[in-house]
Parts: sequence; structure tokens; C-alpha cells
Amino acid sequence: MKREIDLDLKQRAQKVLPNGMYGHESTLLLPQSYPQFFSKAEGAYLWDADGNKYLDFMCAYGPNVLGYADARINEVAVAQLEKGDAMTGPSPAMVELAEVMTDMVSHADWAMFCKNGTDATTMAKTIARAQTSKRIILVAAGAYHGAAPWCTPMPSGVIDEDRAHIQMYDYNSVKSLEAAVAEAGDDLAGVFATPFKHDAFTDQALPDPAYAKRARELCDQTGALLIVDDIRAGFRLTRDCSWELIGVRPDLSTWGKSFANGLPISALLGSNSTREGAGSIYATGSFWFSAVPMVAALKTLQILRESDYLEHMIALGEQLRAGLQSAADEAGMGFRQTGPVQMPLFLFDDDPDFRTGFAWSEAMLRRGIYVHPWHNMFLCQAMTEADIDLTIAAAREAFAEVKQARTSLEPHPVVAAMFASMAAE
Ligand SMILES: *Cc1c(COP(=O)(O)O)cnc(C)c1O
Repeated sequence: MKREIDLDLKQRAQKVLPNGMYGHESTLLLPQSYPQFFSKAEGAYLWDADGNKYLDFMCAYGPNVLGYADARINEVAVAQLEKGDAMTGPSPAMVELAEVMTDMVSHADWAMFCKNGTDATTMAKTIARAQTSKRIILVAAGAYHGAAPWCTPMPSGVIDEDRAHIQMYDYNSVKSLEAAVAEAGDDLAGVFATPFKHDAFTDQALPDPAYAKRARELCDQTGALLIVDDIRAGFRLTRDCSWELIGVRPDLSTWGKSFANGLPISALLGSNSTREGAGSIYATGSFWFSAVPMVAALKTLQILRESDYLEHMIALGEQLRAGLQSAADEAGMGFRQTGPVQMPLFLFDDDPDFRTGFAWSEAMLRRGIYVHPWHNMFLCQAMTEADIDLTIAAAREAFAEVKQARTSLEPHPVVAAMFASMAAE
């Protein structure tokens, strides 16, 4: 595999980008052979800067749901680009998109559009406080809701005051949620929940319906708003808010990543009970009203409603899960696949510093399959049964290779240091 261009870009980036790269796009916490820069993406495939081709199980960390460079989306996006994108006001598509999303998402009566998921979760937090005139926001420990100071997972530059009135509870624990609500007393503004537990570095967990229902009850009793953060899982579990599957309707839900198939747009949806709070806050952004992502979203949502994309991804996900399990069993490797089959996470038993997972991921990469060693992955509509067969065949070889090398695997310098410092705390 060629690496010259990527290595050169990494070196140049060290000089002109902090740390060479930042946020979730940093490859510091990935296996060292992983490329940083990509030149092209089409369907389910991705090409790095050196031209190496991969079947991509990251789907841009979620935005790609139909397939990269989908011709149906590109056609409407390019046509709108030629007519106008950022203008002095929004295009008619904004009203249509709000109508479509409130039609699709059962709990929702109104919509606001923004650019990133963090915009939507931060607005949800502000609206919860505006609507209730209370302060405390509950979030599940370890859950990701964005990169603003109130929710970023990295403490650098964050002061206690940024996190004032943000309290934690344990996902899926009724007891812990009840205790956090009791602790908040009469100052509870809102409770955040992701549709399922999809935290990094740990097994995923589906929501316990008892926990979700109790969250709804506690919000009803206290007047706090229930906020489902559907930014990652939205429209990958169902064509509605994800908690509709377990019969729990939030007051607010946040959306992003996939619903314009990769064009930049996110959304906050709310029920009538939150309309006043939503109308009272000042929220905006220079690019929030751009027309191109809105027409792309309308087209994407139309395809999601009219195609079997979801059933297709689930069928492929089941094929993948069964095939990988039997390949791991044959190799005698303890391999855990968690979460919904269309949003899988892979971890190895007895692998506290992830060195086995890293080696396996690198072995997959060498075979043209891009998987992630500690973050959940995503399937997309463009994947085929043949792609999944290819993946399982590569996995069979990768398991054998890693099993043989297991006793001589080296720890990853950055990841091992991170876990050592966490263990010392
Ligand atoms: C990605 C993500 C966010 C933040 O979205 P950005 O567009 O990266 O700001 C918030 N919540 C969840 C659950 C996410 O997966």
C-alpha cells in the first residue's frame, strides 16, 4: 500500500494545523498505518490521498447513509447551487423541509435548522432552560452530545462554570436517573438521552424500555423536557425518532449527520409544548439558512421514505454479524459485536489497551476494508451482499493473522498512555 502522499501531508499538517489534526478527524488515536487524508468517495467506497481504495464502514462518521456522491442528491444540490445557496434569506425549501420532518417525526410540531449537531444540542439545552425557567440539565455519563464547552469529552480549556448545572446519570439505570432527578429538586430543566448507548471505547447497549419510560414519567412529573439526541442514530433505526420504536416520545429531538446524505445541515425538532421556549431564544448562524443542504435533505428524506434502504442495511448488518461471528469462532478469538447490526461496534475480549483490536483493524485495512477499532460504525444503502462477503473473507484472514501475532503485539503509544493516565486517576 502506498503511503507517500499521506505521510507528506501529515508532516505539512504538523506545521499548520494544531497537532496535525483535531477532533474526531485526528488519527492520533487510530492505528499508525491509518491514512489521514482522502481524495475521493463514491457509493460505499473511499480512496485515500495515495489512491488506495477502501470499503468504508465509517460512512464519514455517519453522514453517508445512501452512498457517497449519490447522483440523485448531487443532481438537486448542483441545480440549487447554480440558483443560489447562502442568500439574504432562506429559500422556499426551508418551509417544505420543516413540513417534511415534522410529518416524519411523530413527536415533532416545529423544526429549526442549523449546521452541526452541537448547534442543535446546545439550542436544545437553551430552549429547555427558556421553556422551564430552570437550570439543571441531566446527561448520561460518557455520552457524546458535541464539542461545545458544556458537553465536550476533553476537559482542556473548560472551566467549572461552563459545566455548572450539568449533572450526570448512568444510561439505562432507572435508579441512577431517579437519584439525579431527586438531586435536581425543583431546578430540573431537561434530560438528554441518546437513542441507545453508543459511547466510544465500550460495548454498545440498546435502551432498556423501563429506563426510557421512566425518563418520560420523571419529565412529566417535574415539567422538565426530555431530549433525544438522534444525531448519530437518526433514520438508521427507523423512519421516525428512534425512541418511537420503544413507544417514548421526547419533547425535543436533535438531528444531524445523515439526513442530507452528507451535506452540512442539522436540526432541532420540538413538540408544541416547547414552542414558546423555542420562539424566545436568539439562535442563528451565517450558513444555517443555505438552500443547497435543504434541497439535499428533502431529496434524501424522500428516498428514505420511498426506498427499502433501512431493511437493506439491516439485512446486510445481519449477514455481517453472523459471518464475522463464525470467522471469529473458527479462529478461537473472543470478539464482541454490539449495538444495532446496521451500526456495529467491534471489540476483542482480554484487550484492555485495544492492541488486538488495533492489529485486527490494520489487517482489515491492508485488505481494503476500513473499520474502526473503538468507535461504532455505519452501514449505508450503497453496500451490497458482495461487499459484506468481501468483508467476512478479509476478516477470516485478519483473525488468523492477529491470532498468530497476538503474543508479540505492541501497545499503541498514544492509546496505551491515555488508558494508563485514566487508570491512575
Ligand atoms: C456527532 C454527534 C453530535 C455532534 O454533532 P456535530 O455535527 O459533530 O457537532 C452530537 N450528538 C451525537 C449523538 C453525535 O453522534
